Amino acid sequence: MALIVQKYGGTSVGSPDRIKNLARRVARFKALGHQIVVVVSAMSGETNRLITLAKEIMPEPDPRELDVMVATGEQVTIGLTAMALMELGLKAKSYTGSQVRIVTDNAHTKARILRIDEERIRADLNAGYVVVVAGFQGVDEGGNITTLGRGGSDTTGVALAAALKADECQIYTDVDGVYTTDPRVVPEARRLKSITFEEMLELASQGSKVLQIRAVEFAGKYKVKLRVLSSFEEDGEGTLITFEDPENKDSIMEQPIISGIAFNRDEAKLMVLGVPDKPGIAYQILGPVADAKIDVDMIIQNMGADGSTDFTFTVHKNDMAKALSILNQVQAHIGAREIVGDDKIAKVSIVGVGMRSHVGIASQMFRTLAEEGINIQMISTSEIKIAVVIDEKYMELAVRVLHKAFELEEA
Ligand code: ASP
Ligand code: MG
Repeated sequence: MALIVQKYGGTSVGSPDRIKNLARRVARFKALGHQIVVVVSAMSGETNRLITLAKEIMPEPDPRELDVMVATGEQVTIGLTAMALMELGLKAKSYTGSQVRIVTDNAHTKARILRIDEERIRADLNAGYVVVVAGFQGVDEGGNITTLGRGGSDTTGVALAAALKADECQIYTDVDGVYTTDPRVVPEARRLKSITFEEMLELASQGSKVLQIRAVEFAGKYKVKLRVLSSFEEDGEGTLITFEDPENKDSIMEQPIISGIAFNRDEAKLMVLGVPDKPGIAYQILGPVADAKIDVDMIIQNMGADGSTDFTFTVHKNDMAKALSILNQVQAHIGAREIVGDDKIAKVSIVGVGMRSHVGIASQMFRTLAEEGINIQMISTSEIKIAVVIDEKYMELAVRVLHKAFELEEA
């Protein structure tokens, strides 16, 4: 007998039929003697609908009130899911985040989970219930409803699995696992049987949307066994997120050099041209940007020639206008010649733990892009990732040729 947390995304609860289907799956696991906690998202499209609705009343919705109304999406699906389970003759009970007491900080719309009071769930499980919990939401110490950021139901699932010390956390979604890249861009993309936690973390932070990044961080911190599966297949094995075993070198050696390619068009590039090459410049540029709570991703500062240099960094597209106006305000003070913004860029990243033990991966990546005439504007690397910024219009081409160059279509 195992304790399993199953999280179902928006498409998996998108209609009454799909909810019934989900219930039948839960019933099969229950029949095997397992204890099951189900975490559900809102029905697909519902969270977007609620946010749009809020903006019709208040263009910049008050975060506390937005959380109050956006959290209703999941409250609907937990009730429906519990009913579907009852219709199959199972004992089921649903809870909102605040009923469980998934306690978060008070950062409305992007709250972090602090702790979970799991005793009540455990008691229900021991009494034979399937427990259904609303994803994406919690409650702060003051009793205010909070939400965990878009895609946050993944994090609810993983956090519950950690709190309950579950044997496995299964994330059911509309794809049957984690792919070498998005199959909509590269039809030859292949499902990975397993991927290391660190690779998954890089892929999620570089733009892969399969799992919310916080969910992956949580899984890493508490060593939650995590599996991504399709809710439309009877018995696929999905993709298992594994932890590298330092004792077992073979497990690392067998990994492919590159596991996946991620991409995103969400960033914009800001160039501060012709600034004096002297101490304090980076701080004078990025200090005010950080004060405005704008996240900076890549940063490049050129070597100064004749006492002046260029400073380039990327931010989320939504923050470009704000960042530009900040830079324009400090331009005179820092003595920059020109400030330029460009949001027609894309970031493409190759990720793989095998990079640690292989040389020449970067040059192979750069050669592949050069052969297609794709200009690289920025580069950043970590131990297991190489990311480049290129012109947005070449993004799909870049992903396709890299997928081929690193032979990712082959099992
Ligand atoms: N319903 C929320 C969203 O659409 C949370 C989730 O689905 O994970 O972002
Ligand atoms: Mg999701």
